[in-house]
Amino acid sequence: MADDSTHRRRSRRPTRFPVHFQVAVACREWAHVERLITLNASRGGVFLRSPKSPLVGTPLQLDIELPDGSGLSLAGTVIHVISPEAATSLRVAPGFGVKLDPAHEPDLILLESMARSETAGAAEPALEAQSESDATRDTTDRATSTPVPRTSVAITSSGAPIAVARFGVQPSPEPELPDAPCTSDAVAGIDFGTSYSSIAVVRGAEAVLVRDGAGRLRVPSVVSYAEGGGVLVGWDARARLATDPAHTVSGVKRLLGRRMSERRVADYVAQLPFRALPGPADQVVLEMSGRTISIPQVVAELFRLLRRTAERAAGAAIEEVVLTVPVSFEVGQRNGLRKAAQLAGLRVIGMVDEPAAAALAYGYGHMRNELVLVYDFGGGTFDCTVIDISKNVFRILAAAGDAWLGGDDFDVVLARDSAGGFQREHKIELGRRAASWQRLLLACEAAKCELSQAEAARIAVPHVARTASGPIDLETTLTRARLQSLCGDLVARSLTMVEQSLHGLGLDPETVGQVVVTGGLTRVPMVRAAVAKLLGRALTEVVHPEEAVALGAAVQAGLIARKRHARPTATPP
Ligand code: ADP
Ligand code: MG
Repeated sequence: MADDSTHRRRSRRPTRFPVHFQVAVACREWAHVERLITLNASRGGVFLRSPKSPLVGTPLQLDIELPDGSGLSLAGTVIHVISPEAATSLRVAPGFGVKLDPAHEPDLILLESMARSETAGAAEPALEAQSESDATRDTTDRATSTPVPRTSVAITSSGAPIAVARFGVQPSPEPELPDAPCTSDAVAGIDFGTSYSSIAVVRGAEAVLVRDGAGRLRVPSVVSYAEGGGVLVGWDARARLATDPAHTVSGVKRLLGRRMSERRVADYVAQLPFRALPGPADQVVLEMSGRTISIPQVVAELFRLLRRTAERAAGAAIEEVVLTVPVSFEVGQRNGLRKAAQLAGLRVIGMVDEPAAAALAYGYGHMRNELVLVYDFGGGTFDCTVIDISKNVFRILAAAGDAWLGGDDFDVVLARDSAGGFQREHKIELGRRAASWQRLLLACEAAKCELSQAEAARIAVPHVARTASGPIDLETTLTRARLQSLCGDLVARSLTMVEQSLHGLGLDPETVGQVVVTGGLTRVPMVRAAVAKLLGRALTEVVHPEEAVALGAAVQAGLIARKRHARPTATPP
């Protein structure tokens, strides 16, 4: 009969996975370490084989570099050491165990899933719930086989390393992670937007946008972290933007995969109502209700919600997705997005630029032959792409984008204007009051949207400030003309990019066959008028401006899945 207490003890331990990592060492306390070739990884910690070990209690930084150049950054402390002598008598491998800091939760989960996949690919089965010494013994046994060098781990004690002994994969300027191969039928496309996100699935030969339980096609890209540990996502979180701005995260797309030392990021962070700080590898992390949260973790909350919604609608598990990205997204941002998807249990089978996705939604399957210009003006980014569609072949001729140009910037300009008037009248600076400022931003956004229908809109924030003589309301009127004079420059910046794209190709606006406009801001009459004037034609709605990107992503996901089915599985004798 199984020993019950042993079983209980074992089941509390995280599952460990033996992995063959190649290791580079930067060390202070154990400068003579020659080789560290294998480590056992779990979410709780790692065991590193080493003939020489640092002292128990040594704080370590582990920068794990994947073969494709992307990386995980973990911190931990040495909690036990098996000396070569002890190792000989115990017949296990010498080395040391490092307990990893749970603040790096997303990276730990990735480390474990990486280890899991390495194990899955190896001849040996994954080790389930084994004890520390079991894990070590397994490592010893494997030492006789030739390690497969795939991943490098750089370890530094806290503080500057004295020497760096590096072998294995050399660091490189972050190459992009490869897409995972498609393995299942239920695939989806996700449009992760600065303001709103949506998911579309493939039904038969069709891409279909998914509605949530309330019939809505999109969810606000907002996540709110409650004091007690609860997390609200989407519409529920958006409702808290005005009431709990310190714990409610929006506009996170602008922080994903970015370094705090980037000037634009630092400026952006300075005006956020929640706490954002530099984390491992200078990546932006958030501090919410005593928790440190990475940006991919925030995005993963959104992805989980979208995934659940799509699974309910599709009646099937969704594990594979195509993600859309702005043209301006760099490798670090794309990798951040992949990380978020992985955290949400999704395999990324492809990434497609947002305008290209919109073009797919417009043109795929319609046997068109034309030159298409996609003008995509969303909440946080502007993208412009010129695409040559020839039946079902899409060739991107030019792509330009600005990750710091979108509807959020309109809202800030409008809010500053209203706040300026309020300050002149009441000598109160609303920009310094987080909750008032958020309420003003929301009111300005609502007025901006209203102006797409009406000539004038009211900006009203009741009780926006309180003085000794009582609460004060902010109330003002925004006209289309005022919007034009305040935000005309932002629109002009987008037009310059369109002009440059066409000019770079040596094309005149008349040669463009179809103009596809997407993104919520293209509902603003002055935006539409400016694009129409530049391109010399009236704009017609050929795709739904807020749905096309997710639909295009699903089209791409369907194509990838279909291609896999078409691939011959066996060679005939
Ligand atoms: P993203 O994809 O970046 O989330 P969207 O394409 O959803 O962005 O566009 C969101 C932006 O469009 C927001 O700034 C929002 O205020 C603005 N927007 C949405 N609807 C309208 C409208 N009817 N008139 C003006 N602006 C709008
Ligand atoms: Mg968008």
